[in-house]
Amino acid sequence: MSGNKVGSAGTLERRDGPLPEYALYAIRYATREAGRSSHFMGGDRHDGPMPMDYYVWLAVHPDRAVLVDMGFSAEAAARRGRELLCDPIDTLAELGVDPQAVRDVVLTHLHYDHAGNFERLPQARFHVQEAEMHFAAGRHMRYRYYASGYEADDIANAVRANLDGRVMQYRGRAEPLPGIVLEPVPGHSPGEQAVCVHTRRGWVVLASDASHYYENLLRRRPYPAAHHVDEMLESFDRLLELAGGVERIVPGHDPLVMQLYPPAAPGLQGRIARLDAEPAPMPAKPARTGRPAAGASSEGKVSASAGPGEASSAAAASGGASS
Ligand SMILES: [Zn+2]
Repeated sequence: MSGNKVGSAGTLERRDGPLPEYALYAIRYATREAGRSSHFMGGDRHDGPMPMDYYVWLAVHPDRAVLVDMGFSAEAAARRGRELLCDPIDTLAELGVDPQAVRDVVLTHLHYDHAGNFERLPQARFHVQEAEMHFAAGRHMRYRYYASGYEADDIANAVRANLDGRVMQYRGRAEPLPGIVLEPVPGHSPGEQAVCVHTRRGWVVLASDASHYYENLLRRRPYPAAHHVDEMLESFDRLLELAGGVERIVPGHDPLVMQLYPPAAPGLQGRIARLDAEPAPMPAKPARTGRPAAGASSEGKVSASAGPGEASSAAAASGGASS
C-alpha cells in the first residue's frame, strides 16, 4: 500500500504525495439489440429499443497496464448466440499493450461477459472480491437463476488460477496498486466491485454492472438481474458518493458511453473511447432510440434463442441473474 490512501470516510481524496495518472479506455467489444423493459425491474411503461453494449476497460500508465474485466470468450459467445465486434484481448494491442505481458487484471465480478479469456493472460494476477469467488463456487449455483450468469469454465479457471497463486481476494475496499481503488458495490452480484482509477481529471469510477446504464443509477431503477435489490439501490448511492458526480461514473453496458466520450483516435469512434477526457454533457433524458452510429450493423443480433444470462428473452423467461 503506498502512502497515497483513500480517505477512511470513504472518499477518494488524495492524502499525500503524487498519484499516478492513468490513461483510461473503454473498449466496446460486443453489442446486442434489446428493449427498455428488459433493463428495469418491473419493466418500463415506454418500451422501445435500448441496445446493450459490452465493454472491457484498460488503465495505462508508463509503469503498468491494468485490465478491468476480460469480456466473454469466443466459445461462450457462440454458445449464447452473441456476436463479437472485436476480440477484447487482441484489441489491447491497438492501445500498445501486449496481452501476454499484462500483469494485473481486476475482475468486477465473475459473470460470463466479464470473466472469460483467463488463459489468454498468462502473466496476470486477478484482483477479485472474496465474496464473488465464494458465490461463484458456492451452494447457490445449483439454481439456474444464478448459474445462468456464469460459465463453468470461467469459474474453473478462477479456481485454477487461485491454486496457482494468481488470485488476490479482498474483503472490502482495497488499493491493489497506486491510483487503483476497488470498492464493493454489491447487489447485481454479491462480490461486485467498482474500480476507481486516478486519471488526469481525477478519480473516475468504473461502475461495471453496479449500474448497467446511466438510467439505472440516476433514476434509482434496479436492473432486473439482481442478487440483492436493497444492496443494489445502496450501491447506486455509493457510486455517486464516491465519484462526486455522474460525469465521473462509467456504467457497465450503456451505449451512451461511446457517445459522451471522445474516441481514443480518429478512426476508433464507437470502438474505443477515452474515459480520462471530460465527457460531453449528459442528455436531459438519457433514453435512446437506437445504437450509436458507429458499429451500427447487423452485428448485435436479437436472439430469441440466446443462451442463459443477461436479460435475453431466454434468460428473462427463466429469470437469469446476469447482465
Ligand atoms: Zn455485464
